[in-house]
Amino acid sequence: MIVVLLGPPGAGKGTQAKRMGSATGFKHVSTGDLLREAVEDGTELGIRAVEYMDAGSLVPDDVMLGLISELLDRKRQGTGVILDGFPRTVPQAEGLDQLLEDRGEIIDRVIFLDIGEEDAVERLSSRVSCPNCGSVHNLTTDLPKVDGLCDTCGGPLVRRPDDEPEKIEHRFEQFQRETRPTIEYYRSEGRLETVDAGRPIEEVQKAIEMVFNRNSGPQAAR
Ligand code: AMP
Repeated sequence: MIVVLLGPPGAGKGTQAKRMGSATGFKHVSTGDLLREAVEDGTELGIRAVEYMDAGSLVPDDVMLGLISELLDRKRQGTGVILDGFPRTVPQAEGLDQLLEDRGEIIDRVIFLDIGEEDAVERLSSRVSCPNCGSVHNLTTDLPKVDGLCDTCGGPLVRRPDDEPEKIEHRFEQFQRETRPTIEYYRSEGRLETVDAGRPIEEVQKAIEMVFNRNSGPQAAR
């Protein structure tokens, strides 16, 4: 089973994908995390991606499709996958359909986490994360137990470079320009399921679980 999670920055894609992953045993694939690891490790991919990421811009489609293609090749047959942060452009969505068709697979669910820009910006502005283990905290709603330190591994919590206010604005522009049409691509084909993501984490999780557990076919999940 392949699940795609779409949404603007700050919609909670990573948070919800992690929870879905733990609940279902599906592999959580965050393209943002994969790229950050590549940058950290100084790989060829990381060297190509870093300037785009630091600017809050999208990494080119051919790089992203190469990354996903490799990942699908490594994926064991029958393993469920939750794609968090991919696709983000129409060429990526079309490319993904083609890659899956070549492998005799399809996307089983496309879930759009819908949230207003104001709420999303507020979340991003108070988000800190741990570069060691990737855990995320929110300084308004989910304070760490010890100020400035990660609850999971004790590492220092930092703000992501692309969560600075001017980068956030740029990421939203990109979302409107590139990812909105991607959402419409799935909607026009009747494949999109929309979840109201402006609610507390547990409520959003329940709504996603409903979509997840449904036998088939998109319906309103608000
Ligand atoms: P995220 O952690 O999902 O917010 O992603 C962090 C950054 O990684 C983005 O701002 C982009 O620079 C890059 N990135 C992640 N996924 C993609 C994608 N599907 N297409 C292009 N760039 C991406």
